[in-house]
Amino acid sequence: MSRETEAVSTNPTPPPARVLVIEDETTLAGLIAAYLSRAGYATTTVHTGPDGVQAVREHAPDVVILDLGLPGLDGIEVCRQIRTFSDCYVIVVTARKDEVDTLIGLSVGADAYVTKPFSVRELLARVQTVLRRPRTGSTSASETPSSEPIRVVGALRVDPNGHRVHLADTEVALTPTERDLLITLARRPTMAFTRRQLIDVIWGTDWVGDEHLVDVHVAHLRRKLGDDPDTGRYVTTVRGIGYRMGQG
Ligand code: CA
Repeated sequence: MSRETEAVSTNPTPPPARVLVIEDETTLAGLIAAYLSRAGYATTTVHTGPDGVQAVREHAPDVVILDLGLPGLDGIEVCRQIRTFSDCYVIVVTARKDEVDTLIGLSVGADAYVTKPFSVRELLARVQTVLRRPRTGSTSASETPSSEPIRVVGALRVDPNGHRVHLADTEVALTPTERDLLITLARRPTMAFTRRQLIDVIWGTDWVGDEHLVDVHVAHLRRKLGDDPDTGRYVTTVRGIGYRMGQG
């Protein structure tokens, strides 16, 4: 008993992050799950689309690793359904790199993409990176100014303190990534961010991958805000640079 007490008082361990693997190739799914479990994650594995949606409801995972080609319900539809009730991180596993472009148009709301073939080590790195991201919703008070100005652009109101976004009088349901993007832009409203700068703030400076990912999330964000898909009013495209908050 005393040993337990000591362990708790000197090194309080947070509960392990929960990862759900939705992958129909059972050997690959087992390999991923074993690797993640060894790395300390509480891992669950399912093999079909409908089971995937059900498992997100039951287990409320922190991260979902989602294969696109699934029986029963394809990964795109699974992601859409998950997004109607969960803001967990979704890492999509695609067979082709150009599928990411298709996903932009479909606005499925994934947070990261990994292209097959990948190493489990690479996948683990992705999981660690999304979980390490500086979540705007969980930043401690000591790291942020106690009061940041609320940014208003037309009907859009972004509150960096309360981490809330309203359009007219209605709160907009955003994924953590979309909210982080908008709040990052709102904190420096006169600054045009490059994609890399946004990645450094939101995904972390050690993020390696296609900077196109930013465009995916801007596209999702614009759709939810009813913004122009190409130029944007709330999130403005700055030609040759990247993105800036719209001017209020
Ligand atoms: Ca598959």
